Amino acid sequence: MADLDIHGKTGSFWIKTCPTTNFPPLKEGLKVDTVILGGGIAGITTATLLKDLGHTVALIEADRIVEEVTIGTTAKISIAPNMIYSDLIKNLGLTKAQKYAIANQKALEKIAEIVSNKKIDCEFHRTPLYIYTESNDKVEKINEEIAAAKKLRLPVYYADNVPLPFKTAGALMYENQAQFHPRKYLLGLAENLDGGGSYIFEKTHALTINEGDVKEVITDRGSIMTDNVVVTTHTPVYDPDQLKNHLHPARSYVIGLYINGQFPDGMFIDFDPVHTYRTTPTSRGKLIIVAGEHSDLNVKDMNEYYMRLENYVRQHLDVKSIEYRWSSHDSVSDDGLPMIGMTSSEGIYVATGFGFWGMNNGTTSAMIISDMIEGNKTHLKDIFSPLRFKSK
Ligand SMILES: Cc1cc2nc3c(=O)[nH]c(=O)nc-3n(C[C@H](O)[C@H](O)[C@H](O)COP(=O)(O)OP(=O)(O)OC[C@H]3O[C@@H](n4cnc5c(N)ncnc54)[C@H](O)[C@@H]3O)c2cc1C
Repeated sequence: MADLDIHGKTGSFWIKTCPTTNFPPLKEGLKVDTVILGGGIAGITTATLLKDLGHTVALIEADRIVEEVTIGTTAKISIAPNMIYSDLIKNLGLTKAQKYAIANQKALEKIAEIVSNKKIDCEFHRTPLYIYTESNDKVEKINEEIAAAKKLRLPVYYADNVPLPFKTAGALMYENQAQFHPRKYLLGLAENLDGGGSYIFEKTHALTINEGDVKEVITDRGSIMTDNVVVTTHTPVYDPDQLKNHLHPARSYVIGLYINGQFPDGMFIDFDPVHTYRTTPTSRGKLIIVAGEHSDLNVKDMNEYYMRLENYVRQHLDVKSIEYRWSSHDSVSDDGLPMIGMTSSEGIYVATGFGFWGMNNGTTSAMIISDMIEGNKTHLKDIFSPLRFKSK
């Protein structure tokens, strides 16, 4: 398909609306309490929570921070990524589903607390999430999900009215969810992170870890000594438990556009086939960010998927101009829950398998792993343990 058919400049809106970073590469001869590998939402949030607890940290990023999957996101923050709870109760049981729901609620509130306490200007904004269908045949699924979410005591309602500018057949709504500008949020955290015995090192590629009570993280710029290592490189670069075998990567596509007429506030997910909408403020008015069209990781022609997404959007909205398009990927674990916690190597932690819900799951990882390093009990750690697939 010719590129001429596709509209919008390539590149994420989030990166085009923020300055670039310029942290130095690793300095030799350092020792810190914890080294964090990877500067996306999971790594930066973990480093922040640990530093706030009084630990010294060094965050090591192969390239520049917040330039990988975390700028591919649409950055919706909510207790439900989609219609998950009915399936989770069926597949994993009520207790595990309840724990995941609690983790999602806590992560949302943690982001709100961080934004407020650190006064981060990142367009954090409370807004409802609607999960809807355009097909009468699928309304029953919505009712099932509402019943499941109610069992978990989540604040869910049947939405008689979905304020989208096209017709829907049925929807559920979660009130008081949130959205933000993910790169502004994370650059705000990074500003507070560097200094006082803690560091961010960019252009530093982690190669391996020499295990032991005191660990040595080997990079292409030399090594650094530490008590704990947290691997948040999306796909783990240090993987003693072969978690890669339990991760299923997929790609998704995003376009940013303006329309003629009004588009409502709120976040909207058509659950099957998945398409999502949210808006973000710009000097030209609300930019509408639409995502969808999942594919394999390595497709021959991504334009085919952009074109499908563009056609879908033109069937639903009166498009004025398409300004941005980008694509990124995420991994779903075997059971749909993220893998968070200590690996089989003492003092080496991992966070991965966020299943297209890394704003929440990345924050949950940071909360659980910082608690574990601090020696606090966390009743959530069992359901997310990266070792849960080991005996299977
Ligand atoms: C299209 C799309 C839409 C999405 N929408 C949402 C949404 O609405 N809400 C939501 O919650 N989630 C959403 N997600 C999911 C979310 O964006 C991801 O789960 C999350 O950003 C992953 O963050 P991360 O920190 O694990 O990875 P990354 O952001 O990729 O960070 C990992 C970092 O590790 C670095 N690294 C890799 N190897 C090394 C090495 N050897 N040494 C040092 N550093 C290394 C990389 O350079 C990178 O910077 C979406 C994802 C996609 C693709």
